[in-house]
Amino acid sequence: MGRHAPLQRFFNAEGPNSGKKYSVRQILKRGLNTFSLQRVKRRSKRRLRSSPLRLWTLIPPSKETYNVINGSSRESQTYNMGKEKFDVIVVGGGPAGSVSARTAAQHGAKVLQIEEHTKIGKPIQCTGLLSVRGFEETGANCEIILREITGAYVYAPDGRKLAIGGDRVHAYVIDRDRLDQKLVKLAQKAGVMVRDGLRAVRWEPGKLTVSSRTRQEEVLHAPVVIGADGPHSLLAQAAKLPRPQQFTLGFQALIPYEPPARKDFVEVFLGREIAPNFFGWAVPSLDGYGRVGLMTADWKNSRVYFNKMLEARKLSKKIVEFQSGVIPIGPASKSVADGLLLVGDATGHAKPTSGGGIYTSSACAQIAGEVAAKCALAGQTSERALAEYDRRWRTLLERELQFGMQAHRVFSQLDDAELNRIFSVIDSPEIIQVISQSGDIDYTSRIAIEFLKRPRLWGRLLSLLPTDVGTLVRMLRA
Ligand SMILES: Cc1cc2nc3c(=O)[nH]c(=O)nc-3n(C[C@H](O)[C@H](O)[C@H](O)COP(=O)(O)OP(=O)(O)OC[C@H]3O[C@@H](n4cnc5c(N)ncnc54)[C@H](O)[C@@H]3O)c2cc1C
Repeated sequence: MGRHAPLQRFFNAEGPNSGKKYSVRQILKRGLNTFSLQRVKRRSKRRLRSSPLRLWTLIPPSKETYNVINGSSRESQTYNMGKEKFDVIVVGGGPAGSVSARTAAQHGAKVLQIEEHTKIGKPIQCTGLLSVRGFEETGANCEIILREITGAYVYAPDGRKLAIGGDRVHAYVIDRDRLDQKLVKLAQKAGVMVRDGLRAVRWEPGKLTVSSRTRQEEVLHAPVVIGADGPHSLLAQAAKLPRPQQFTLGFQALIPYEPPARKDFVEVFLGREIAPNFFGWAVPSLDGYGRVGLMTADWKNSRVYFNKMLEARKLSKKIVEFQSGVIPIGPASKSVADGLLLVGDATGHAKPTSGGGIYTSSACAQIAGEVAAKCALAGQTSERALAEYDRRWRTLLERELQFGMQAHRVFSQLDDAELNRIFSVIDSPEIIQVISQSGDIDYTSRIAIEFLKRPRLWGRLLSLLPTDVGTLVRMLRA
């Protein structure tokens, strides 16, 4: 019974029958009936029993859920949005868009959120690895969690393996498309009007032109627009705002995969042959499958590196699905213009050390939503008024993102022989303990700070790092 406690807690607190109290037996029975779980029924009862949380991940969104999300587009066929006045329009149905739209609505603004795709969350361009903090920041609930992650196996170019962590849950593997759907639903609950299948095609302060397959171009009016439109941001280009510092490619596939030992560990692969300047990964998702990929600045050869990685790590070559996308890193120097705020990948909020952007985008989106609502309602939508957002997100994250950029530059200079030497120094119980205890996938600078506090350990590493590591140290001490 104890094993099913999280499911029971979740179902009674947040499930479709919230308010009523059910026993585990009733939940399993009712859950199966309520959602007509054909897919679940086909799976073995043994697998279901082994993980109570997984029941939720196997449940396809109910028909009702799809209607709420997609029903809006049906309605929009006849509805004339051009006549409506919004306080804030959010472009983009990703995490940055939904979190900022929700927050703006919670702060009293009348909000419209548009997304160019007709299926929120598709196509998937993400591994779905999210820190516990990041998960909480989004406001989603545990039904989208596929797996808990407690540690990582990190491989040097020569194949030496280090096991880091394993003590507590550091991150979750989530169902990314369902995260996006969930966040849109939460935005709708907060009062946001959501239109999918609607694409922003032009912007000037106060006016946003949109088009869709079924409607002619239409001009929408709002004093503030939030550009949460991802790496290729039309809004950033229209406002001639500076772009993120570097554009990398995340090249990933879903493949049959068995973790080498612990199922709650991810694998990280280093080496110029596999992922020059960045790294490769294998993240276990649903039992028997993994999301395996790499990040590279060498876009043209990403498939070549990917194949080499599969070969070198003896991973399956049976590709179920490719899921690649652009990851901008290095925050843009400005994220506001008259009547416009940029958030998320549109302005380089992803972490340069890992490419992860859900936590940082969601954290900045909350500030964007709040400032957008406040300024729109006060009728003060100049760049100067909106700059409050720019200041506040930089206070929260810029130091970490700039540190990440500098750490990435230092890392990029290391060749395989140097990486192997660094591994041989790190491979000591004392250093691994420091990394395991202070490791934080959102704030990598915290590990470096811990090392700085221990000159003996730091000294051992320092001699192996390139000379411009001094800039990093100065950033940490500032
Ligand atoms: C292969 C890969 C793996 C990744 N893995 C992770 C990971 O494990 N963990 C993590 O935290 N991050 C990961 N990321 C990064 C993460 O996906 C992004 O940082 C995050 O999605 C940023 O959210 P966003 O809302 O800013 O942008 P997006 O999620 O890209 O959302 C932007 C939305 O705007 C819509 N849009 C764009 N233009 C328009 C327009 N003109 N009109 C209307 N709509 C428009 C797009 O269709 C899209 O839905 C990964 C990225 C890639 C490519």
